[in-house]
Amino acid sequence: MHMLNSADEIRERIKRIRHNVLEAKAKYRQPSDNVEIMAVTKTVPAELVNIAIEEGITLLGENKVQEYLSKKDLYNQNSSVDIIGHLQTNKVKYVIDSVEIIQSVDSLKLAQEINKRAKTIDKVQKILIEVNIGNEESKTGIRSDELENLLKSVALLENIRVKGLMSIPPSVNSEEFLFKMNNLYIDISEKKLDNIDMSILSMGMSGDYDVAIKHGSNLVRIGSAIFGKRNYL
Ligand SMILES: *Cc1c(COP(=O)(O)O)cnc(C)c1O
Repeated sequence: MHMLNSADEIRERIKRIRHNVLEAKAKYRQPSDNVEIMAVTKTVPAELVNIAIEEGITLLGENKVQEYLSKKDLYNQNSSVDIIGHLQTNKVKYVIDSVEIIQSVDSLKLAQEINKRAKTIDKVQKILIEVNIGNEESKTGIRSDELENLLKSVALLENIRVKGLMSIPPSVNSEEFLFKMNNLYIDISEKKLDNIDMSILSMGMSGDYDVAIKHGSNLVRIGSAIFGKRNYL
């Protein structure tokens, strides 16, 4: 066995993930389906994130506002950032001018704040609605039976555009919940709600991205399988 330095390791892991994604797509999906790979950057130093960007993974996922703000100016410019962690309303103002999609919207209150802040900078902010598909107490996200009502309210906000759904399924029996999530996504898409554009289904992480692709995901959020085990301080 030979040792790789972390930059080479990251490059190797990305190659492997791309290969697995292609394989899952070939097995389960239509040739025209696109599946985007996001690099989840929590706890990862900017210089290592930049290795992933150089490898062509240009979509980054950020959990914590403070960590994001401390690293964003160090990222290779050729990248875009989505917020994927729980976002407090009082932090919206710090990220609104620099993020592509806020994936973790789970309340009307948060959507209203995003709308207000987006309006002040003349932006239409793209968002996903985060669904707590397992109805887990410990997790954020709207319950699936409340999704349609939330979508109808958010659709009225002029400076927001809903682009789809995001979910973190329970770790036990995750396939069952990925399947449920895809059905929910399809049901909502077929309702063709005014002003709601269902084009992104964001689910699948390091441990289950292939299964998520099987169940319709078109955006997989991958952290440890790219950067290795996280070191929380
Ligand atoms: C950390 C995180 C991921 C990535 O998790 P890994 O298991 O390291 O791939 C994906 N989505 C969200 C919302 C996360 O917080």
